[in-house]
Amino acid sequence: MTNQSTSVAEQATLAISSVNTGVFIDGEWGESASGARFEVINPATEGIIATVANGDASDARRAIEACNRVQKQWAKTSPRERSEILRRAYDLVMDRQEQLALIMTSEMGKPLPEARGEVAYAAEFLRWFSEEAVRIGGDTTLTGDGKNRIIVTKEPVGPCVLVTPWNFPLAMGTRKIGPAIAAGCTIVFKPADLTPLTSLALVDILVEAGVPKGVLNVVCTTAPGDVVGTWMSSGIARKISFTGSTAVGVRLLEQASEHVMRSSMELGGNAPFIVFADADLDRSVDGAVAAKMRNMGEACTAANRLFVHRSIAAEFGRKLADKLSQLSVGNGINPGIDVGPLVEERALAKIQGLVDDAIAKGATVTCGGQRAQGAGYFFQPTVLSEVSPDSELMSQEIFGPVAPVIPFDEEQEVIDLANDTPWGLVGYVFTQDVDRGLRMSEALEVGMVGLNTGIVSNPAAPFGGVKSSGLGREGGRVGIDEFLEYKYIAVPRT
Ligand code: NAD
Repeated sequence: MTNQSTSVAEQATLAISSVNTGVFIDGEWGESASGARFEVINPATEGIIATVANGDASDARRAIEACNRVQKQWAKTSPRERSEILRRAYDLVMDRQEQLALIMTSEMGKPLPEARGEVAYAAEFLRWFSEEAVRIGGDTTLTGDGKNRIIVTKEPVGPCVLVTPWNFPLAMGTRKIGPAIAAGCTIVFKPADLTPLTSLALVDILVEAGVPKGVLNVVCTTAPGDVVGTWMSSGIARKISFTGSTAVGVRLLEQASEHVMRSSMELGGNAPFIVFADADLDRSVDGAVAAKMRNMGEACTAANRLFVHRSIAAEFGRKLADKLSQLSVGNGINPGIDVGPLVEERALAKIQGLVDDAIAKGATVTCGGQRAQGAGYFFQPTVLSEVSPDSELMSQEIFGPVAPVIPFDEEQEVIDLANDTPWGLVGYVFTQDVDRGLRMSEALEVGMVGLNTGIVSNPAAPFGGVKSSGLGREGGRVGIDEFLEYKYIAVPRT
């Protein structure tokens, strides 16, 4: 380890030691009711970096009751007040960008430059929704016969359950907390137990920015069913906003039905990445690197199946392999690292299994293919060529740095292959033919399309999927609507 990285490691330790690791309920940090704690592991070193209060159903109960107590009062605050809280939070997050990035890299593994990028992306949601808070608006019109006025107002839905995954530990939180605060909703928040520290650091920032007592409550736990289940069955929560796997999302939708809760679901993906023979090859390879390697492939938007026209598939595979094999794999806290570890040991075994299955079904390894030696959960960036459509990785999220290239011949064939999945989050299309690009964008059964780009996420855009990838949208002009109820007032014209 170099002197420089030693000092970065020390800064990371210092940043982690500054995080409050309790449960945060009704404006107070404390231990969980049971006093139990769980460990947070650095996936690059396999070392324990912190312990966090392990919340249970009784903590969850107190948290949702705090929401209940303050919801009405919070809903009455002025939009400007809520806007300014979010704007201050944006500034504070950016002031502490380095600290938050160090915490994130330590608990989740993404390289420090990517972690800094996520902090900036996450902060943008706070700024975006600070601007939306004062533009909630409403509508007024006349009935068709002109006899009645229609006045439409918007009100906060009420207490919200927010549950987030480990892969974007800050942005998945701010994408929900931002609009919830802007709309005037109270919050119970459960971050992922693999990466709780970044979210806990955010709590102190939000409190410093002015979020009042009881409005934001956070319980981390290794028993998510107990904590979230308590909120879902409470009869107090009016909304669930979940980002995570489809399996858990479906379970939460079942629970939401008991009290007919508003539900937003950002679930899994199985993104097709389609390159036509007329595409700019270098641009499509760069797009594939971005769409595949962001977050080590651990993204719902990750290119999962790379369909490349047969006439260019071999060249595309070689160029992609050239780029991926030049990436340096290692502890993301060190300078010059492009690819960090996977989040946990279990992920390595799953990915090795998918790669081995594809090879057994005829794929060839163009680069990578194995876990990297030594401590930490590292997998080599991998390109597989001539992947058979019946390989297991075609039908599930790889969630790792593995790019399977599948040759195709005809446009309709690739549309059918791309849509042959229960998921529909994002699709990528590379072509220089404008008509084809738009035709393909319409034909793909997805919520988002990257047309000649490998990156679609942006706070100003409505992020979300169709089919088993989810319900609702986060970000953009519609993001706040997920946290608002419309009320229509009928007034006769006398
Ligand atoms: P996960 O579903 O295992 O966990 C997500 C969250 O749900 C965690 O906080 C977890 O503790 C909690 N959880 C687990 N079981 C629960 C239960 N029974 N009741 C209530 N909560 C429960 O997902 P993950 O492994 O953390 O994240 C990866 C998944 O998230 C992938 O499928 C990925 O595609 C998806 N994801 C989607 C988006 C999107 O915007 N569509 C973004 C990021 C990640």
